Parts: sequence; C-alpha cells; structure tokens
Amino acid sequence: MSIEENIRKVTPYTPGEQPQKKVIKLNTNECPYPPSPEVVRALSETDWDRLRLYPDPACEQLVSAIAKHYGVGSAQTFVGVGSDDVLSMCFLTFFAGNKPVFFPDITYSFYDVWADVYRIPYETKPLNGDFRINAEDYYEANGGVVIANPNAPTGIAESLGFIKDILEHNTDSVVIVDEAYIDFGGDSALRLIDQYENLVVVRTMSKSRALAGMRVGYCFASEQLIKYLNDVKYSVNSYTMNMPGLIAGKAAIEDTDYFHDIVGRVKKTREWTSGELKALGFTFNESQTNFIFAKPPAPYAASEIFDKLIQNGIYVRYFKKPRIDGYLRISIGTDDEMQTFINKLKEIML
Ligand SMILES: *Cc1c(COP(=O)(O)O)cnc(C)c1O
Repeated sequence: MSIEENIRKVTPYTPGEQPQKKVIKLNTNECPYPPSPEVVRALSETDWDRLRLYPDPACEQLVSAIAKHYGVGSAQTFVGVGSDDVLSMCFLTFFAGNKPVFFPDITYSFYDVWADVYRIPYETKPLNGDFRINAEDYYEANGGVVIANPNAPTGIAESLGFIKDILEHNTDSVVIVDEAYIDFGGDSALRLIDQYENLVVVRTMSKSRALAGMRVGYCFASEQLIKYLNDVKYSVNSYTMNMPGLIAGKAAIEDTDYFHDIVGRVKKTREWTSGELKALGFTFNESQTNFIFAKPPAPYAASEIFDKLIQNGIYVRYFKKPRIDGYLRISIGTDDEMQTFINKLKEIML
C-alpha cells in the first residue's frame, strides 16, 4: 500500500505561455484592446468595503444583464469563472451516463482533460482532411456531444443546419456548443435553446470582450438544464464568481457599442493579416475567429518559425500534435503588432 494509489492522477491541460516580460503576444487569442471604459468606471466606483462579504451566490445582476442582452430568460442563463469553469461544470452535470461522450480529435484540448479528471468515458471523432466535422460520426448512441463552433484551433465554423442535425440525432444526450469565438464569425445556436431541450450554448467574455483576466463565462440552455447545472455548482462551490468579476462582467455586456467597435477592428486586422500571410505562401481556411490557423509553405517548418519568432519576442501557438504539427495558430493583435509580426516573418523566410 502507498498513498499513491489513493490519489487522483491527471495529465493537466497546458495553457499557452503567459510571458511576464513585454512581448508581442499572439498565442492565447486574447483581445488586443483594453476592456470597455465602462468596466474600468464600474470598478473604480466600487465600494471595496464590500470585499468583506461573500459575493451574491446567484450572481443575479450579472445573470440578468446577460439574459437581457441576449433576449433570453434569467432562468435560461448560467455564469461561471470563465467558460472553462462553465464547461467543466457542464461536463460534470451533463455527462454522467455510461456511454462515451463524443468530440472531434482536433478541438479545444481541454475537453479530454475534463473527461479524464471526471472519469467520463469519451471517444474522439476525426475531422476530415479539410478539418471539417462529419455529422454522421455523431449519430451513434453516446453520453453527450461537445462541438466548438467555430472550432479551435482550426478557425472553421460549421453551419446552423449542421448543429441542428447533430441536435436532432442526439435527443437522448446533451449537446454542448462552445461558442468562444462566435462573435468573430459563424451563426450562433443560441436561438435554438427554446426548440431543443438537449442544447447548451457556452460563451465567454475572454475573447471578444477583452476580459480574459477577469474570468467571466456563461451559458444558455432550457430552464431544466440550467437548474441541474446550478444544483451541481452549489454542490461544489456556491461562490464561484468573485465580486469584481460580477461587476466587470455586467459593465462589459452592457457596453454594446464598444464591443462592436473592438470586434470590428479585430476582423479588419484579420483580413489584412490573411492577405499578407497568403502573399507569403501560407495556406489556411478563411478564419471565422480572432486567430488564423496557417501552414507555412515548404521548406519552412512551423516549429522552426515558431522558435525563431520567440527569439524575436513574438509568441504564437504551436501544437506538437499529430495532424496539426505543421501549423501555427496566430492570434490577431493590433495593426502595429501584426505589421511587426509580418515583417519578422519576411526576415525569417528570406
Ligand atoms: C478560450 C476558449 C475557452 C475558454 O475561455 P475562458 O477564458 O475560460 O472563458 C473555451 N473554449 C474555447 C474553444 C476557447 O478557445
């Protein structure tokens, strides 16, 4: 006997690097612009005395602001500490059966980690050669489905018709649609929550609302599914969201003009960057996200360009994994950052 056999052992998720020195950071899909000035104002007007108290466990003000913004009911809305927390709670709540949960082989690399840590059986379904999802792979009986749409790191969005098809073939299991990047492209499944009682739509304020550091995520589903989710949340930690997060999240969701402005800027810079990368011979699918997943032309290896960029203080993401180890995932930064990035690439690829 040893204590070792009583310990839960997991292979953790590896987040992208967060270098503490000043670099051009194009590796974790954060927003290159600051959060809404309304967020800063709401926080500066906060009475910090209130930190003595526990925050509102129901997160009522934030939940109702989000629900109002999207035109859904508060009872159809759930919030968490970033969408990672929301997704983790969803896995724990909705994937409690014995059949395997299905998700693509190339997708957000946290899904298999949650499945492992919660001991949820799962099966990955290979994307096709163009990195598209085969709907038929998800017709077999399963314990649940998770689809990131648009998908990461591919940047490709599947249609709403595709999502409906998955929902209709999986009436006995919960289908989670992770819409972390939906504000940058693709059609949201949000409007389908009244129609499909097996649908959960997950969102985040980390990418399109410039609040990655605050950790605010949310999801929408039928009132029944949201109730199950809250029951599990209250059984793990009643106070997931801290007080500043509740305040910042509410201010961010209410500043629609600023949100449209920064998303528009990111998309514009994405189009410019796409043109430049194409001119350098990179190949990629049109991005529907705030990053471009691109393959450098021969004879340049993605891993080599990745290393050389780091030496020049530019961080992009490289996944040393089968099928995608020839690609770089490049987050869209400011115009200046992308200009510097392209200039460096030209030097490297001389
Ligand atoms: C970034 C990301 C998340 C997690 O974002 P949070 O910062 O935890 O809200 C979830 N899913 C996908 C696909 C992502 O890219």
